[in-house]
Amino acid sequence: MPPEVKNGNYRIGDEVYSLGGILYNMLTGREPDVGREKQQLGYVSDGLARGLLDSLWNKEPENRPALQAMKSHPFLNQYVSKVRQSSSRHTSATRECKHRTLDENRKCTRCNEKVAR
Ligand SMILES: [Zn+2]
Repeated sequence: MPPEVKNGNYRIGDEVYSLGGILYNMLTGREPDVGREKQQLGYVSDGLARGLLDSLWNKEPENRPALQAMKSHPFLNQYVSKVRQSSSRHTSATRECKHRTLDENRKCTRCNEKVAR
C-alpha cells in the first residue's frame, strides 16, 4: 500500500507503487516496507530492476511511470517482448470467437479473428 493512501487520497496511479512492492518481493524474497524504499533498493542486485523500482516508488504519484512507460522499461521489456512473440505465434489457436459471423476467408467480421473449422 502506498504511503499516500493512509491519508485517504487514493488514486488509480497508486497501483504503480504497489506493483513496485510485488516486484521487490519477487526479486528479493523480502516483504516490502513502506518508508524504507531507499534502503530496500540496496537489496536489489540487478541495476535495471533497481532503476525501475526507484521510479515505481517515486514519492510523488504523478512522477511514477504510466503503464506504457513501464512496459517499455528495459528491465520489463526484455520479458514483455519475449512473451509478446510467443503469444502472437499462438494467437489463432488460443483466442476464441463466439460470433460465427465469418467471411469467405473464415475471418470473423465482428472481432477479426481467423477461425479454424
Ligand atoms: Zn468473432
